[in-house]
Amino acid sequence: MASRADVLRELNLVPEWRLRSPRPGVAAGGASDALVRPETVPDAGAPMRVVEPDRAVAPIAIGDAGDRLERIAALQWDGFAADVESCTACGLCRTRNKSVPGVGDVRAQWMLIGEAPGADEDARGEPFVGQAGRLLDNMLAALGMNRRENVYIANVLKCRPPGNRTPEPAEVEACRPYLERQIALIRPQLILALGKSAASLLLGGDASIASLRGRVHRHSGVPLVVTYHPAYLLRSLPDKAKAWEDLLLARRTLAG
Ligand code: URA
Repeated sequence: MASRADVLRELNLVPEWRLRSPRPGVAAGGASDALVRPETVPDAGAPMRVVEPDRAVAPIAIGDAGDRLERIAALQWDGFAADVESCTACGLCRTRNKSVPGVGDVRAQWMLIGEAPGADEDARGEPFVGQAGRLLDNMLAALGMNRRENVYIANVLKCRPPGNRTPEPAEVEACRPYLERQIALIRPQLILALGKSAASLLLGGDASIASLRGRVHRHSGVPLVVTYHPAYLLRSLPDKAKAWEDLLLARRTLAG
């Protein structure tokens, strides 16, 4: 088995990643500090989520849910991003800057699924472009891969929850048809669930990442490997080695 140092070298994580310093005037360890460092929650496998009570949103009515589901189930790539961008099925449409449909190769064998856009993703309209995204890119590079070739990256939610709070069940349900349509269009040969939101949605239930990782599951017949969310890995050095093992399991599964 690779040593921790080997794994860190493979992941291009030497010297060790450090959390950014708090903003000037923000007390370390306080709630405001958490807002600028959205990676400090101890829940293994989950990115950190903080509620901004003043920006909490309530779901708004879905006009005709049946028509919406049918429309999304028939979407092709040429209309997919525009449909997401015009979505008003939950209150996140009121607070998003850009929707974040997904990025990568639509004929990819690998599909990576995270939780929800953060501030960087909301500004850019692309998943995993912040600090966690850099780690994810390094993990892919360690496998000789990159986010544009043979990999497609999406999230459970296409819009940012205010303050990076945990997605609400109604938001996840409202957004689920988009993710299912992406899976149907891509027909990946392997899904890598990054963190608990993706694992819970795709597998059902509420099991921990620790209990789900290390074996191959299935979602709609597609082999699915569960691993820790990159934002969690940024603050949990020992689990990076486990994530590396998960990536190797995914690669072995694909190799058949
Ligand atoms: N965390 C996620 O789950 N997805 C992103 O796109 C960025 C951070």
